[in-house]
Amino acid sequence: MGIVLLLIAVLALIWLLHRNEAEEERSALIKDVLWLEQNLRFHLGSNEEQLQQLALDMANAPDRQKLFRIRAEHMLKNSSDIAQILWLDNNRHVLDALPTTKHPDSDIESFGPPVTAKAFELAHRLGKQQYSEPFFLEDNRAYIELLVPLFNERRIVGMLALLYPLETLLANQVPWWFTEKYKVEIVDDNDRQFATKTHISGNRSQSYEIPFDPPGWGLLLRVTSYNAPDNTLQRLLVAAIILLAAGVFWSLWLVRDLMKKRSLAEDALREEHAFRAAMEDSLTVGMRARDLKGRVIYVNPAFCRMTGFSAAELVNRAPPMPYWAPEQLEETFAMHQTVLAGEAPPDGFEITFMRKNGERFHALIYEAKLIDGSGRHTGWMASVLDITERKHAEELARQQQDKLQFTSRLVTMGEMASTLAHELNQPLAAIASYNTGCQNLLSSGKANPQDILPALEKIGVQAQRAGKIIRRVHDFVRKSEPKRAPCLIGEVIEDCLGFVEAEARKRHVRIDCEIPNLAPIPADRLMLEQVLLNLIRNGMEAMAGNEEADRVLNISTVTIDSEIQIQVSDCGSGISPEIRDKLFTAFFTTKPEGMGIGLSICRSIVEFHRGRLWAEDNIHSPTGSGTIFIFTLPMESE
Ligand code: ADP
Repeated sequence: MGIVLLLIAVLALIWLLHRNEAEEERSALIKDVLWLEQNLRFHLGSNEEQLQQLALDMANAPDRQKLFRIRAEHMLKNSSDIAQILWLDNNRHVLDALPTTKHPDSDIESFGPPVTAKAFELAHRLGKQQYSEPFFLEDNRAYIELLVPLFNERRIVGMLALLYPLETLLANQVPWWFTEKYKVEIVDDNDRQFATKTHISGNRSQSYEIPFDPPGWGLLLRVTSYNAPDNTLQRLLVAAIILLAAGVFWSLWLVRDLMKKRSLAEDALREEHAFRAAMEDSLTVGMRARDLKGRVIYVNPAFCRMTGFSAAELVNRAPPMPYWAPEQLEETFAMHQTVLAGEAPPDGFEITFMRKNGERFHALIYEAKLIDGSGRHTGWMASVLDITERKHAEELARQQQDKLQFTSRLVTMGEMASTLAHELNQPLAAIASYNTGCQNLLSSGKANPQDILPALEKIGVQAQRAGKIIRRVHDFVRKSEPKRAPCLIGEVIEDCLGFVEAEARKRHVRIDCEIPNLAPIPADRLMLEQVLLNLIRNGMEAMAGNEEADRVLNISTVTIDSEIQIQVSDCGSGISPEIRDKLFTAFFTTKPEGMGIGLSICRSIVEFHRGRLWAEDNIHSPTGSGTIFIFTLPMESE
């Protein structure tokens, strides 16, 4: 806007200067014209006076001719622009004339109206001096004539005439310096030119006309000024100013463009910055950047909230950091060194940090390289997650699971209590009866040690069996942490079979099983037994409605790749699609006295061993229905 105003101001200034100049030029022109007109009038006037004086003097002179001659000669000498001075009688006959006596009027006839005759008549009538209209003579020059009446005793007796060639009048009366600036012309109303004088040529700029009176007759003195050649310099100057102004305007325009672009870029940057700041502030993950030496160079608000320290307290700090737990200083420092060496685990690592109020919290940290704009590695960027809550929740879940497991074991134990009583009853009854037999033999006195020995051996076997049962129950109910130790799957299956033998017999279920001979795997034997027992018991329960002949449970083991697959198949009722998804959900049961936690615990145990547990339909079952529960165990330790 300002630029446009400036440009307008410059242009206005130039225009004003130009106008001023033109005005000055014009006023100078007018002044000069007025001066010239005055000059001419003065000159003509002085000639008029002289002629009138001559006319006066001639009226009283005794020798008129002599007087005329002397004075006319004198006038001609003083005024070189007078072509001829004539003395006429009342009939316009030349009485005398200087420098020649030839009267020009005789030639006028051929040029147009007898203008001098008209002037003569007028002068005669009015008795006053009179100028004629301009007229042309043979030499193609324009003339005017001044006629002054000659009186004698108040009567006009003749006329004195002065013949002026207009060209000569201008040539003598217009000074040289005038013609250097102007063109002077004598014209009439019809623009007919009678005389002109100039020394210059070129473009006319302005002109001024004033009446040329005397002689009058509508004659005009026209003065035209011409553009001086030094105008070119001025024009050049103006052009240069305009050019420079345009240049300034153009460059300002460019600058404006640049500024516009710059302000747009700044806006975008500001927006971007605001966006980033908002993003940074709304992050719940703590971010911490460190340089290659381990000095903190940046922490985000989430990190500050997490640790309780302000950014000012952390930035530029070198290890040990104020949020390192003092009791784990060495461990934390070692981890710090590992990160700086670029060996931080890519899956992140856990560490205990300390808040400003001394509270400890578990942090899960992922470290990544900090790369700057030019691709240079300048430090390390860590994202820090406060996993205290999560850990706590996990711990709670684990404890709950443990409790559940314990409850489950108790429940199982309760269920088995009666079975156990029955189970123990057998070996104990056998022992008692063998014992009675032995006593009887011994008391009869016919006892042969060879006869007693087998009985005693059997007593021993039965006692061992009872002891084994009791030990197993003891082991089973004892709450213990899972312990992985080399464990033979064959033995696990064998143990389970021993455990469910009695129940199977009671339920009339036949268990088909091949004991595999596999290398030991790292596992918690008791847990695996629990899984297998649960699956076997479920299978047996599912076949409760079958014909006795169809109550067959199969346990098989296969190895696939690096996994052991154990399958427990029954020919029972099978699992309907509606409940298939809920099978492994805790407390899901279809049994009136069921607890519904067996399968969920089984899955937890299998997954704890990094295996999988799932159910399939037993399509090869002779009854047409049935389920196969399959679980896998990896053969190798981690
Ligand atoms: P519970 O035996 O106490 O009901 P589980 O978690 O062991 O708890 O089993 C959950 C449910 O899964 C059972 O109620 C039963 O409906 C179904 N189920 C488990 N095993 C079998 C099987 N072999 N055949 C058919 N259904 C089964």
